[in-house]
Amino acid sequence: MKCNVVKDLLPLYVDGICSEDTIEIVEEHVRDCDKCKAHLMMMQTDYVETIPEEVRDAVKPFKKINKKRRIQVVVAIVLTFLLTVIGAIVLHDTGALNHIFFPMVSAHVAVDSEDNKEQWKSLYFEDQKSLKYDSVFWRKEITNAAGSADEILLRVKDKEGNIVIDEFKIVPGTSVKLETLNNKEEYYFEYKTKIDGRFLINAT
Ligand SMILES: [Zn+2]
Repeated sequence: MKCNVVKDLLPLYVDGICSEDTIEIVEEHVRDCDKCKAHLMMMQTDYVETIPEEVRDAVKPFKKINKKRRIQVVVAIVLTFLLTVIGAIVLHDTGALNHIFFPMVSAHVAVDSEDNKEQWKSLYFEDQKSLKYDSVFWRKEITNAAGSADEILLRVKDKEGNIVIDEFKIVPGTSVKLETLNNKEEYYFEYKTKIDGRFLINAT
C-alpha cells in the first residue's frame, strides 16, 4: 500500500469511522513505515481528546510503544551520562586511590663538597618536616633508590627529639623495614652521607 493512500485513510482511522479492513491495512502499514507512524502519532495527539472511546482503545497500542521507547531513550541517556562520569572519576582519581592503598613519599637529597659530612641533616619527604604513618597501608619501609650515589645513613627521632631508631645504613637499591615505628605519630628523619651526589629516598 502506498503512503499517500494510507495518508488519505489516516483521518478516517483516527476518527474511527472506517471498516475493520481499513483499520487492519492502516495498522499493518504503520507498523513498518516510520513516516506514516509519525504522521499518525501527530494526528492522534491532536485528535485524542475529541475522539470516541473505542477509537482511543485502538490507538492505545501505539501510544504504549511510544511511551516505552521514550523511557528506553531516557534510560540510555542517563546510563551513558553516569558511565561517563564514573569513568572520568576513576581515571582522574587513580592517583588518589593509589596514594591511599600504596602510600609513598620521596625525599631528594643533593650533597656537595660544601656539606659537612659529619653532621646529621633533616630529611624532608616532599617538603614535610615529619612523616606520619596515617593509615594501615604504610609498609614502614625506607628505600634508598637504585640510582642514588651511595649508601646513606639514617636515624629517626620522635616529636620530643629523642632518637627512636639509631643510625642505620641503606645501600642503594635496598630497603629497611622500620617495624618499631607506630602509626599516627610524627617522626623526624635525619641523614648523613660520605660522598657527594644525589640521593632518592622513598618512604612506603
Ligand atoms: Zn507509509
